[in-house]
Amino acid sequence: MYQDGGIFAYLHSTMSANIINRPIFPSACGQCAQERLTCCYYQHDTIADMMLPTSYIECKNICSFLGFSSIDTFFEEEEVTESFQKNIKAMFPGESEAIERIFPLGGTRFRVALRGEIKHCVFLTPRGCFLPHTIRPILCQLFPFWVYKNGDLSLFGNCNLAPEGVEIVESMQRASLSIVEIYTLYNVLRMYWGI
Ligand code: SF4
Ligand code: SF4
Repeated sequence: MYQDGGIFAYLHSTMSANIINRPIFPSACGQCAQERLTCCYYQHDTIADMMLPTSYIECKNICSFLGFSSIDTFFEEEEVTESFQKNIKAMFPGESEAIERIFPLGGTRFRVALRGEIKHCVFLTPRGCFLPHTIRPILCQLFPFWVYKNGDLSLFGNCNLAPEGVEIVESMQRASLSIVEIYTLYNVLRMYWGI
């Protein structure tokens, strides 16, 4: 089910044993991984349009953390399509001009590499994400939370950390993220993306 055991064997052998991962509410992400429900699967026909971008600086940071000088093993370049651009614009209402500048139609952007028959992120293991929380792409660190420019906080749906009926404050506790950390991550993401 999870391919590229070779890469993971290599990663496990090269990573320090005492990396501290952020504890997440009773392994909600691990449970997702077991049930193939995670946000790290991409079971869509139009993968290019659904997959969120990762800035070059994030790709570089992750790869140097893993001891790779090139980003090619873990990240791929994808064409910017109209529907992708539309999805990103919806995340940044009123900032269409900036999005068109950063993600011009026909241009390219980076995303995590995919593996497996049912496409999943290269970093996904049967127990969830391989990367420590603070090393992941910023969007992954933020998920399922999102911030709008006016400061409004919202939630992406379909996440075990934010099931229906659970207050946003409890979701933050489950994700071990404070409001300050969420806003900080959002601002770092804007900076990395150049918005
Ligand atoms: S962030 Fe949410 S949807 Fe993604 S793996 Fe964790 S619990 Fe599942
Ligand atoms: S980097 Fe980790 S959290 Fe992000 S999509 Fe990949 S497996 Fe999921």
